[in-house]
Amino acid sequence: MDRKRFKVMEEIKEKGFEKLLEIAKKAIEKSDLSKEELRYLLSLEEGEERRLLFKLANAFRHDYMGDMVFIKGVIEFSNYCKKNCAYCGIRASNKVNRYRMLPDEIISMAKNMAKLGVDTIILQSGEDPYYDLETLVYIVSTIRSTTFVPVSLSIGELPKSAYLKLKHAGASKVLLKHETINKKVFEAVHPDDDYDARVDLLDYIISIGYIGGSGNIIGLPGQTIEDIADDILFMKRVGVKMIGLGPFVPAEGTPLQSFPHGDPELTLNTYAAIRLTMPRVFMPATTALGTIDEAKQFEAFNVGCNVVMCNFTPEKYRKDYMIYTGKTKVEFFQTARRLKEMGFKLSIKILRELEKHEKGVMNRC
Ligand code: SAH
Ligand code: SF4
Repeated sequence: MDRKRFKVMEEIKEKGFEKLLEIAKKAIEKSDLSKEELRYLLSLEEGEERRLLFKLANAFRHDYMGDMVFIKGVIEFSNYCKKNCAYCGIRASNKVNRYRMLPDEIISMAKNMAKLGVDTIILQSGEDPYYDLETLVYIVSTIRSTTFVPVSLSIGELPKSAYLKLKHAGASKVLLKHETINKKVFEAVHPDDDYDARVDLLDYIISIGYIGGSGNIIGLPGQTIEDIADDILFMKRVGVKMIGLGPFVPAEGTPLQSFPHGDPELTLNTYAAIRLTMPRVFMPATTALGTIDEAKQFEAFNVGCNVVMCNFTPEKYRKDYMIYTGKTKVEFFQTARRLKEMGFKLSIKILRELEKHEKGVMNRC
């Protein structure tokens, strides 16, 4: 078996980076990294040692997960939200045009996405009670029975009983970010949420058999490097299989609109540290990172990321789903083409669709 991580460890040894070597050995032996070791990785600055950390994380991704990048599709089906998370551009009290997609409009888009070969259909929205449990069950079960593609829910907090029913309807994954494990920072930005209830809900979702996803925002006011190390340890303890993590991006009209965005470099360090800690995790290179610096989103695939979420929200709604200002569109074909050029593997179905799309474009020229 190809074991790139051992070769990188040799390189670290040759260069004499003792602390990184010690951490690399522990990660390779599958021993838990301590908070102090994670803090060390997160703090590495531009230079040879950091380059080797990234190379090691990339090798871990290669050795454990192969070279496939999983392309998921997201439909942002409603921007109504009853909550007021301080960072979010579609929080209830922000003045934005609101929209809701009809259930059959959502299902029809999901079918188009399935034809293109997306790995998962992610249904995302604000916390919008307009979609009651019966409606959600209808949407999920129809998508599942017509496309057979896994369905992931990213619609905020639901009652526990709803997660059970939606699981029976065919949903298999849930994304519910803990946002930050520092209780003070969490409470400062979540006027409607209970910290302990969020953590308990994540545990519950995983305990009933969902593939659970969580993640934190990098750069919330008051957050420290130690907090991010704790975020990583928390996600490992909970047993998430997916981690969606990106920098804070200020959103106009929100209480945090004048705060600086999160550090893209620290975001890359975090991806790398996570890959060493949880080598089999599915981890997207996030749109938030791409919004701050497009090149960095693609760099993320070389420091441990192996997933990307492409946007399938219909054009007429997309401009109103601005959870942060300037949110870019991650377009399916463009992204697939770029990943292919970077040497990553894509599913056969996606490669066929990409070829068809490009032939169509050539014929139109
Ligand atoms: N309402 C759902 C899903 C939509 S929001 C929920 O909250 O879970 C999805 C994610 O967007 C949130 O988890 C949050 O981490 C992220 N987000 C919102 N505003 C953001 C901002 N200004 N910067 C970075 N991420 C943000
Ligand atoms: Fe609503 Fe989610 Fe935004 Fe919070 S982060 S305001 S729950 S859409």
